[in-house]
Amino acid sequence: MMPPMDAARSFPGLSPLDPTRTGFDFDGVIADTAEAFLRIACEEYGLCDISPDDITSFCVEECLPIQPSTLIAIFDHLTYEPLAAGLKPMTGAIQVLQSLGQRGQVTIVTARPDPQPVEQWLEHACGHAICTNIQVLAVGDHDDKERFIRQADLHSFIDDRAETCLALAQQGIDARVFAQPWNRGAHGLPTLSGWKEISHLFGQHIHQSRANKP
Ligand SMILES: [Mg+2]
Repeated sequence: MMPPMDAARSFPGLSPLDPTRTGFDFDGVIADTAEAFLRIACEEYGLCDISPDDITSFCVEECLPIQPSTLIAIFDHLTYEPLAAGLKPMTGAIQVLQSLGQRGQVTIVTARPDPQPVEQWLEHACGHAICTNIQVLAVGDHDDKERFIRQADLHSFIDDRAETCLALAQQGIDARVFAQPWNRGAHGLPTLSGWKEISHLFGQHIHQSRANKP
């Protein structure tokens, strides 16, 4: 998981992340929910003229020309049957989660209402042994993650919803925005470009911890 020597030049500025105290959102961070959403919209509803860059708001009903009943049907499919819906991981996510899960516990805090479909998806993606080290906390509310993050003794949290990150930052959590088309607004928070950068920041922390040991 350690980055190559020239990786520091690729990701200037952000402070390292402690892999033992960083939590993750699921949709839009670990899972490529937008890809699955757009694919289902096209294949099952004939809505094929939408690109990821058209999703300019986390509230998709505000930015996409899709009927509310269709939106609900697609999101229900992704929420309760992510494997059947073909939900894929974001590039690099599984490798990092597997690496973290081999060393200790990984915590996912999601606004989804039910942890079980996520746990099944993770078991499929990461394997059973790793999955036993990943806990999924299903909060059921985008604005109620802080207490779960604190209960899990996490210092940093990575989420793709800017409003969630802003609230967490105000509550003293080191919130990092996972870059997506719907969070490009002026939130002023540290933004992560993807799992390559997350892996690099974990590696930096481990490197510093070793260097600081007497
Ligand atoms: Mg999300």
